[in-house]
Amino acid sequence: MSAPVPRIDFRANTQRVPPNIPAATQKNARTGLLHRAESVHALGDDYWESLRQAAHDLRLHAITHLDYYLPLLEEHVTKAGGVVHWANDAGDARRIVQEIAVARGVQRIVKVKSMATEEIELNHALQDAGVQVLESDLGEFIVQLAGQKPSHLTAPALHMTKEDIAALFRDKLCVDAPADPTVLTEIARTRLREEFLSADMGISGGNFLIAETGTLVILTNEGNGRMCTTLPPVHTAIVGIDKVIPDWQSLTVLLKLLARSATGQKMTAYVSFITGVTQDGPREFHLVLLDNGRTRILQDEHARETLLCIRCGACLNICPVYNHVGGHAYGATYQGPIGAILSPQLLGTKIAGDLPFASSLCGACAEICPVKIPIPEILLHLRRRVVEGDEIERAVAPTVVRAGGKLGAFALGTPWLYNLGARLLKIAQAPLRRDDWLPALLPPLNRWTMARPFPAFRADFRAWWKKRGARGG
Ligand code: SF4
Repeated sequence: MSAPVPRIDFRANTQRVPPNIPAATQKNARTGLLHRAESVHALGDDYWESLRQAAHDLRLHAITHLDYYLPLLEEHVTKAGGVVHWANDAGDARRIVQEIAVARGVQRIVKVKSMATEEIELNHALQDAGVQVLESDLGEFIVQLAGQKPSHLTAPALHMTKEDIAALFRDKLCVDAPADPTVLTEIARTRLREEFLSADMGISGGNFLIAETGTLVILTNEGNGRMCTTLPPVHTAIVGIDKVIPDWQSLTVLLKLLARSATGQKMTAYVSFITGVTQDGPREFHLVLLDNGRTRILQDEHARETLLCIRCGACLNICPVYNHVGGHAYGATYQGPIGAILSPQLLGTKIAGDLPFASSLCGACAEICPVKIPIPEILLHLRRRVVEGDEIERAVAPTVVRAGGKLGAFALGTPWLYNLGARLLKIAQAPLRRDDWLPALLPPLNRWTMARPFPAFRADFRAWWKKRGARGG
């Protein structure tokens, strides 16, 4: 049994962020955004928008018809010689993979990057069972070596500079490592190659599952996906049930969006298709279909579009909050805006109720999302769940926050009280005011002004609004 998951304290986590992380995160995220913008521009805005809409519609269709597509997928995987396992939760998934490994006397596993295996904390479970697990994606290899968790969906070591990585290699691998990306990659490559050849099992996630043929689709830029899924005698893939898509035609739409949104590439360097057991591949293929809260998300009509996510990472790159605190501050597998809506639904608001508030609601995430997930709306929906509770979870916000919210709503909906409050605030703010700004508020409001000034309150907002209406703009 795994230990209970502690509550994520986002504010405390942000205070522990090492000073170099925001700069490295911003630099790398900006590079991703620049490449994305060039590649989207080359396709043309109208075509890009039509692709986004098509992707949104087909993903929504797929996740709302899982009862049809998942059995179809299972039928085709089984026909092709694979074995499908159903995992209700993380514990189930870990047990299934452990049993596969133990029954075959597996000692060494190589893994290709997979957020689903991070989500179920598979590495620890396998290591506890005495199995050596090595991450083979360069970024994952680096963070595993550093004893950290990934800080980004597609670039796990995004928070690190080449100097950090060189120092890490010198320390952990005892090699002469200059801060040169080509040399660092070569060092990792040489180390990994030996592991691919000696591993007893390969573990992967999956970007998509094509129901009409039972095909697992894996995208990588380093070729490690092919090594992991072809060289060892057993291949086990752990994939969320939300990754199923109807057919190959759907895949063509999603492939055009995913690589461009993630890195600005027209296409990921290696696109692997695995359908069951092939003559020249591993002797066994196991597909673990992971629910772990996804069907619960599906039942919530206001939040189910969370499951459309194709894990491109673009919303992280553009998010001002993510750029200031990096991925580790989110304290969970999924970071940034998608993490802020997915983690509270997977882990519950009791554990991850801080995360929907880790957003400025600027809306940039929704604008960039290739499958048009309305992230700000879902953030607001989840904030309401935290403060007021709903049919899915009871309110978890402290009483004082809930009472303050009710009082605020009452005051804003009661004109005389609003006017009175505005006048009192205007008087109270006078000694703090500098022109139109309040640069230093008193505790606890100074949490805001420690980082930036706050606009001064206007007592005459209603008069201003009336005048604006009369001007017609
Ligand atoms: S929410 Fe959208 S932008 Fe963010 S990772 Fe998922 S698909 Fe990409």
